[in-house]
Amino acid sequence: MDQPLQMHDDSAIREEVAKLCARFPGEYWRTLDAKRAYPTEFVHALTDAGYLAALIPEAYGGAGLGLADAAAILETIHAEGCNGAACHAQMYMMGTVLRHGSEAQKQRFLPQIASGELRLQAFGVTEPTSGTDTTSLRTTARREGDTYVVDGQKIWTSRAEHSDLMLLLARTMPREQAAKRTDGLSVFLVDMRAVLGHGLTIRPIRTMMNHNSCEVFFDNMRIPADSLIGEEGRGFRYILDGMNAERLLIAAECIGDAKWFTAKSVAYARDRVVFGRPIGQNQGVQFPIARAYAQMRAAELMVREGCERFEAGLPCGEQANMAKLLAADASWAAAEACVQTHGGFGFAEEYDVERKYRETRLYQVAPISTNLVLSYVAEHVLGLPRSY
Ligand SMILES: Cc1cc2nc3c(=O)[nH]c(=O)nc-3n(C[C@H](O)[C@H](O)[C@H](O)COP(=O)(O)OP(=O)(O)OC[C@H]3O[C@@H](n4cnc5c(N)ncnc54)[C@H](O)[C@@H]3O)c2cc1C
Repeated sequence: MDQPLQMHDDSAIREEVAKLCARFPGEYWRTLDAKRAYPTEFVHALTDAGYLAALIPEAYGGAGLGLADAAAILETIHAEGCNGAACHAQMYMMGTVLRHGSEAQKQRFLPQIASGELRLQAFGVTEPTSGTDTTSLRTTARREGDTYVVDGQKIWTSRAEHSDLMLLLARTMPREQAAKRTDGLSVFLVDMRAVLGHGLTIRPIRTMMNHNSCEVFFDNMRIPADSLIGEEGRGFRYILDGMNAERLLIAAECIGDAKWFTAKSVAYARDRVVFGRPIGQNQGVQFPIARAYAQMRAAELMVREGCERFEAGLPCGEQANMAKLLAADASWAAAEACVQTHGGFGFAEEYDVERKYRETRLYQVAPISTNLVLSYVAEHVLGLPRSY
């Protein structure tokens, strides 16, 4: 297989990340999966090696790398059979904090995040009643003197139990009073340590894969007014930067998954002999693997273009959304082909195929579902009427 042309040479990063991942083999993930436990040792190893501070500028103690490097890190983690979902939010939320946070907020939090003393892993956007319709969210933040008082609920706030800080989107002006539905929302960097048990309650949700997602309840939760990021009421715009980064980084994870599945499929199809020949000699076995590989390579190009535009500060909603769509489809096609190639063994836990299959299924739904990406492309790229 050809190596993709590099925009810049990230081969050293990929090599080092792969070495780190080799310390966390399938058995490690299988054990955690059975217990739905958090990969603490893996996250510590990534933090100690500086990877989770990849996007933090050097002036604040980070590595000062770009989004393409962060994508290479997450892709490699997934291609090596590990899972970046335990910690990827620290990378994609950086866009919002770096571009819109105040100097005081950056000085206060970024060096500690870079050193691993603080974890910024929780992203509180989705709510049970609003779902994908983000601007209908009901969590409110009301200014009272030097504080904001937060009331409401979030759902699917991943890693909330394993994070110190949360980037929270809440309404600061009722939707009816806002000029546009995207106005009146604000972003807060919440120090959860100060409010846990004092207005903040976290309840884990057991899911089909090990993802550490939670429901989060805010009941008269009082946070300092300087938790606000940027200007009040402009939070939806700020969060979009983070969402584009999130879509590109998740797409990179899907590329990594697709590579892992394909490598597994090829190895098994070469070795497994049925009817006196390797099953991989049959076109019926080869073609789904080859098709998924082609899909992955095309998606990889879109991820690169999206990262390049994000880093250049250019609009990248089109590329970020399409990268997510194409990469999630490629990883799902590769996962399907892998289970099918393995026959019965595709269902046996010790092969890790069924675990990765469950894990990669998520990306058809989160962080944005396939339908909503298609709606975005139809409306914002092709100029078709808004469908919802
Ligand atoms: C494991 C997991 C982790 C997550 N982590 C986080 C997190 O850390 N932070 C966070 O804020 N959120 C998180 N999410 C939430 C995730 O982003 C949402 O689940 C996702 O955006 C879909 O929203 P929903 O579940 O409310 O589905 P809904 O909005 O209820 O949609 C349900 C289905 O209907 C379809 N649909 C809805 N409206 C339309 C339409 N107009 N046209 C066509 N189809 C439509 C959708 O495509 C979807 O398939 C996570 C979710 C999961 C499952």
